[in-house]
Amino acid sequence: MNDRQLLRYARQILLPEVGIEGQKRLQDACVLIIGLGGLGTPSALYLATSGLGRFILVDDDTVDIANLPRQILYDATQTGQPKVACAAAFLQRANEAAHIETINRRLSGNELLAVVRRANVVLDATDNFESRFAINHACVAARVPLVSSAVIRMEGQITVFRRDLPDAPCYRCLYADGVDEDTCVHSGILAPVAGVMGTLQALEAIKILAGVGVDLGGRLLLFDGARTQWREIALRRDPHCPVCGDTAATVP
Ligand SMILES: [Zn+2]
Repeated sequence: MNDRQLLRYARQILLPEVGIEGQKRLQDACVLIIGLGGLGTPSALYLATSGLGRFILVDDDTVDIANLPRQILYDATQTGQPKVACAAAFLQRANEAAHIETINRRLSGNELLAVVRRANVVLDATDNFESRFAINHACVAARVPLVSSAVIRMEGQITVFRRDLPDAPCYRCLYADGVDEDTCVHSGILAPVAGVMGTLQALEAIKILAGVGVDLGGRLLLFDGARTQWREIALRRDPHCPVCGDTAATVP
């Protein structure tokens, strides 16, 4: 780490839990962010300004004017342009040293697994169950920590699936196939609620990467933005889970 970097990250390095070692770990780490919407944009921005070294950004969508209230890396001149390209340009301005790779399509199967294997932490910032199950499956197979969040209306939830550690639950332990889809396209969302949850995803990723504090592994945190209240639910691994259970095949 050079003098300029020491100055830039001085307030983080000052934290005894982080120190130069923790900051270096961030600089050497790669985070895969799937979904560059209301969750993915604030989390990516905080990861960039905090000094994360490498990003892989995955999204197949283009910027729409209805995205702008909460998708904070885009502006009105960029409607119709690929989100990953606009996000990469913004993040590169936020941190010129970051290495940013973009994938402008939806990944699945072995292609998704190969990209997940290259990451130290994966952020699920998507808005549909099909993607969530596929990302979970790949993270279980690759044993890469998954920071998972969802937002709708004025509510949010977040947890961390540490399948790199023994006996941790996975997303499929929590949700069965065929759950009802309820997206912000249909139900609406208040912009800062996405900002709160996306920012928490960045915090959890940084903690895992730098080895700081206690992450949300085994705990589901629920946010009620209307009342500004938090609730926490303990999560356990389902031994019969078809993805991570005792007799499950873990290759997607
Ligand atoms: Zn499971």
